[in-house]
Amino acid sequence: MRIEHGLHARPAAKLVGLVQRFDAKVTVYDLDTGHGPVDAGSLSRVATLNAQQNHRLEFAASGPQAAQALEAIRELADRDFDDVVDAAQSAQPGGAAGGVALAANGGEAAVAPLAGGSGLDVAVGPAAVVGRDVDLSGYVPGDHEVERERAGQARQAAEEQLLRLRDATAGRLGVGEAAIFDAQAGLLGDVAVLDPVFRSVAQGIDAATAWKQALDSLAETFDGLDDPYQRERAQDVRSVRNRVLRALTGAAEPVEPAAGSILVVPELDAATAASVDGDRVAGIAVRAAGTTGHGVIVARSRGIPLITGIGDVAVSDGTTVGFDARTGSFVVEPDRHAFELTIRERTGERDVALAAVDEPATTLDGRTIPVMVNVGSVQDARDARGADGSGLVRTEVLFGDRGTPPTAAEQAAAYREIAAALGGKPITIRTWDVGGDKPMRFLPQDAEANPFLGDRGLRTFRRRPELLATQLAAIREVAAETPVQVMFPMVTTAEEVAWALQQLGPRPDGLKVGIMVEVPAAALRIETLAAGLDFVSIGTNDLTQYTTAADRTNTTVAALADGLDPAVLRLIDRVVRQVPLGVHVAVCGDLASDPLAATLLVGLGVQELSAVGPQVPLVKAKLRQVSAVDAAMAAATALTLDSAAAVRQRLK
Ligand code: PEP
Ligand code: MG
Repeated sequence: MRIEHGLHARPAAKLVGLVQRFDAKVTVYDLDTGHGPVDAGSLSRVATLNAQQNHRLEFAASGPQAAQALEAIRELADRDFDDVVDAAQSAQPGGAAGGVALAANGGEAAVAPLAGGSGLDVAVGPAAVVGRDVDLSGYVPGDHEVERERAGQARQAAEEQLLRLRDATAGRLGVGEAAIFDAQAGLLGDVAVLDPVFRSVAQGIDAATAWKQALDSLAETFDGLDDPYQRERAQDVRSVRNRVLRALTGAAEPVEPAAGSILVVPELDAATAASVDGDRVAGIAVRAAGTTGHGVIVARSRGIPLITGIGDVAVSDGTTVGFDARTGSFVVEPDRHAFELTIRERTGERDVALAAVDEPATTLDGRTIPVMVNVGSVQDARDARGADGSGLVRTEVLFGDRGTPPTAAEQAAAYREIAAALGGKPITIRTWDVGGDKPMRFLPQDAEANPFLGDRGLRTFRRRPELLATQLAAIREVAAETPVQVMFPMVTTAEEVAWALQQLGPRPDGLKVGIMVEVPAAALRIETLAAGLDFVSIGTNDLTQYTTAADRTNTTVAALADGLDPAVLRLIDRVVRQVPLGVHVAVCGDLASDPLAATLLVGLGVQELSAVGPQVPLVKAKLRQVSAVDAAMAAATALTLDSAAAVRQRLK
């Protein structure tokens, strides 16, 4: 039997669930890679087969119900493994989608949604340190029978917790986000996990060690896979491992730290981000760098103060720590009073900014700058207050968790909802920006030595034009109804722009077209690259990493990758000055979310900004306090300075 779909977490769970219903031994083999055959009744085995989209899979079955099992698999494959989560629905909190998930759980009473965070970028409090490993040194093993029972009880306790989390998350963030917990719970019922656990226990190994070994070994398998999306699943396995080990050792749940704590985590998985109680946790400090992971997105959408990339700094449980994401500082045993003052100031600032959020951002000398919002979900658009539209819809985030490419109709529905959530103001839909640190499930990529310099953004779609064509069809459809701009990411050459425009075909009335300026080469030849376009939008995140040759996800070089580096500012300045007449210049990189940097960008002549939701009111408020003429003078000086630190100092 041959099917043509990748088998990632969700479809794999569907397949395994189906196979387990039959009295048959079913195996699956990837004809394209030669991997397998593996047991199709084991979630982990199927997932680690790493079968990509368009690979041909061969199923074989034996046993009394072999024929029925194969027929059922064929039907499931024909239905695309039922892997259709509507992105718009999945982002709908407490809506119909959440209701469905709760009803499916036997009509159990809805779990009260957890509180969100303060929405500030600064926090201070005692550290609640979550280690990579649960401490097993105090675990006292019993005899075989006791350990077998404990292993089973821990499994059950962890599963119950995950299902509760699933329901709470479905109620708050939608079934899409909640599905991660189903996938995690699935691991706990997986024969490929349970067999080694109980075999080890039967051989005299204690339950804690048996669970740890089985899940560590599975996490290692995921870590070793080529596909970046699949590699990220190792995080889920470690999260499940820790949950089971906490159940066994009675270790405190990291999601229930003392009131006012700052959670210090090695990496932020979606489960932790979704289950942190915003009333108890003052903020989250993540050791790993990177701001685009799923967990980070969930925490941000909940308004929980967050800093990433704090590295290996030594922190012990209970020690006071403070961070200011605005300045990028994380301090152990800080001057608590100073932090509290900053928090008071930022709270006041936020309240004042919120009170005037619907006013335009007009400088003292009368220049109005549209301040838009960057969105990765419909909920981001709903939460945005005071935004003049969206300057960046990250479609690869909106649909990144889909196992199969969304149809034009599904995409149009999500884009329409985003536009509606923003009151029909203009939205800028960026075409799929896969690659680098942004995997998309439905478009697995091969491992590359330098993924940021490799197959990314528009480049990828030269090979897969049909995926771009579907997206452009959806964008054209929505553009006929509401103001829409389409934007192509990761552009380097004029030939790429011409190719993209050719894919777009005749532009419907009102559809504005632009490109992102993220590559220094694009900035250096903007005069020809942007000819005939309506706008360009500078992606300072990537422009900074390429200008400074500092990987944006690498903590070791994080200090170099500073968007205020005058070398980056000079490229922005060049774009503004050399862009063809009439082509609008926007900035949608994170630099536009920093109110002080925003004034500098306006001083350089940038005409529009797009910021993360919680920063929109603050950016608008700041712009109202400056004159464009003064900002231009400050910007001219900034261009002559020799470091980002000097620019920052000057701005203050
Ligand atoms: C950027 O590079 O600045 C940008 C906005 O795109 P992303 O962060 O999604 O790569
Ligand atoms: Mg980018």
